[in-house]
Amino acid sequence: MTNKIWAYIDQFKGEALPSSWEAIGAGLALAESLGGGVTAIVFGENVGAIAEQAFQYGADEVLVADDATLGDYRAEAYTATLTQLAADSAPEVILFPTTSRGREVAGMSAVDLNTGVLVDVTALEVVDGAVIATRPVYAGKLLAKVQCSAKPQMVTLRGRAFAKPEADASRTGTPTGVPAALSEDEINVKIVDYATVSGGVSLTDAAVIVSGGRGVSNNPNLNPPDDLDEAGQEIWKAQQGFALVGDLADALGAAVGASRAAVDAGYIPYVNQVGQTGKVVAPDLYVACGISGAIQHLAGMRTSKVIVAINKDADAPIFKLARFGVVGDLFEILPPLAAAMKERLGQ
Ligand SMILES: Cc1cc2nc3c(=O)[nH]c(=O)nc-3n(C[C@H](O)[C@H](O)[C@H](O)COP(=O)(O)OP(=O)(O)OC[C@H]3O[C@@H](n4cnc5c(N)ncnc54)[C@H](O)[C@@H]3O)c2cc1C
Repeated sequence: MTNKIWAYIDQFKGEALPSSWEAIGAGLALAESLGGGVTAIVFGENVGAIAEQAFQYGADEVLVADDATLGDYRAEAYTATLTQLAADSAPEVILFPTTSRGREVAGMSAVDLNTGVLVDVTALEVVDGAVIATRPVYAGKLLAKVQCSAKPQMVTLRGRAFAKPEADASRTGTPTGVPAALSEDEINVKIVDYATVSGGVSLTDAAVIVSGGRGVSNNPNLNPPDDLDEAGQEIWKAQQGFALVGDLADALGAAVGASRAAVDAGYIPYVNQVGQTGKVVAPDLYVACGISGAIQHLAGMRTSKVIVAINKDADAPIFKLARFGVVGDLFEILPPLAAAMKERLGQ
């Protein structure tokens, strides 16, 4: 007998993404109104340790499909297994972390189950027994309250918008094994290899983000190598600027983000982009360096808890959103700031 509320645990290579535990936390809050507990859904191979963690984070039931066909994430295998499980057990709500895999499985399973997905949700409430979700629309200018009339209601949760429950090591349980839906022959995609495109702290899970914009290339005191053309010299300058952004990020244990202007100019890869067409983040602290604060950038970071802006233009729109603003040249401000943080944090 499974609960009405399920939380999908997104894992990669045997490690659960921290935002998965936020899904359990959001589920437990819903369960206070809807009754029952939270069932965690874990797919993969040798994922017993993740099932144990799911109990510790508050699930009172864990359904585990532990199978070689689920060892590597493949959308069709994961989706088919979730679809079959949901069709058999009829949960009312399935909560997913807004990770790329979570969004993919939610969307594809919703099609198969003939239901809808409420995406990028920042708050949930129960009104007259119905789950109502709040989500930002129009680049975060408005908050819409939305409801899915079909069941199960699939919901992807914005990272860090919901509190992660405290893990309780004394909570244990026995996971329930469930079968994978497809055999290897039925899965068209084969994983050949993985290539690492970025290292460091993950943007979407980061508690602190230091981001750079077009301003990081604007240091007239630098002398780029003569053999570079104009575009090459700009990128060289931006690399010096992003090195300062990276130093502050290292001091704070933060992830490095960027504006689209910085990404489009080739200063930094797209995986670092924050905004409407990049990652949506909600860290405790967001430090914007040389970023003007265009609405499309704000759409990706406006729900950050504390925003600090460093910009030499006192009229830059980012200052309207920032809790703390520093009007000045980032090349003068970042080095002593990183040094002070390292000293303060004992590094
Ligand atoms: C459909 C669409 C989607 C988009 N999606 C995104 C998105 O996902 N993310 C995103 O970021 N943008 C996005 N954009 C682009 C967005 O409109 C802006 O062009 C972009 O955010 C600007 O980036 P920026 O702030 O780095 O650059 P700019 O607007 O050029 O600002 C640079 C800032 O740096 C400051 N500066 C310069 N030198 C220094 C210095 N030495 N010290 C301190 N400050 C300095 C300047 O005063 C200025 O405020 C999108 C646009 C469209 C049309």
